[in-house]
Amino acid sequence: MIVVKTRAELQERLNEAAAKSVIGFVPTMGALHSGHCSLIDFAVENADYIVASIFVNPTQFNDANDLKNYPRTIENDLKYLEQHGCDLVYIPDVEDVYHDKRSFFVDLNGLDTVMEGEFRPGHFDGVVDVVSRLFDIVKPDKAFFGEKDFQQLSIIKYIAESLDVEIIGCPTVRESDGLAMSSRNMLLEENYRKQAFVIYKSLIWAKKNYRKITVNDLKKEIENRITKSGKFIVEYVNIVESDTLVSIDEWKDKNINCCVAVYAGKVRLIDNIKLNY
Ligand code: AMP
Repeated sequence: MIVVKTRAELQERLNEAAAKSVIGFVPTMGALHSGHCSLIDFAVENADYIVASIFVNPTQFNDANDLKNYPRTIENDLKYLEQHGCDLVYIPDVEDVYHDKRSFFVDLNGLDTVMEGEFRPGHFDGVVDVVSRLFDIVKPDKAFFGEKDFQQLSIIKYIAESLDVEIIGCPTVRESDGLAMSSRNMLLEENYRKQAFVIYKSLIWAKKNYRKITVNDLKKEIENRITKSGKFIVEYVNIVESDTLVSIDEWKDKNINCCVAVYAGKVRLIDNIKLNY
């Protein structure tokens, strides 16, 4: 596995090795876990030459402490990537990615105004900026993103419509108790970690029962189930059309997702479930 730190080296390596290959790309912020590894596995199955990036993108953090405390485990990350068949890893510094002042701002047609967009102002501007820049640098044929970050995946699919990159969404990988794997899980205090299964358990309950009660009652019930132990604070529970992310207030014969954001002490966790497909 080749490790490069600059876009110049990256492009040189890509020219040498991958000129005629299908390039599969997995962007990450590091602190890798089995969820990230599953994206590499999907990439290996669906592309010829696998590029991953590890870059903690400052512009998508709206909270300076979150950025400062974001876990960094580079040695382990490299081991995981190599074990799973990654060919090339790009680990740039901020200047290498933001080397010019081009603006990648796009109107996201409301996809960024709800849920994460509402509670983390500017977050998706940063995500769109960095993903556009990374796509511009790596020029992948296919890029792999997790359904765990459901809204992010929708937004990236939307911006990729005008780019020549196929976006492949990959299922959420979970811990044995159901908690969605996340780099932030390692920051959870033990007493929160022990109870955190309640988030997915509540989503599973929602999937089984959603048609029996109103949308509003379902949201309230999910919140009650998550907060019952007194440990967690729910930031939002939202039920949205899967393609437009528009909130619904009554059940529809459309694909819908239920999305939640929860504070477990200082750590913010998100998760979601498809309700009807
Ligand atoms: P991050 O390093 O958190 O920016 O995540 C990099 C990529 O891994 C994103 O596409 C995430 O959606 C994806 N990802 C993170 N956690 C999981 C998970 N538990 N299962 C599947 N994909 C994930």
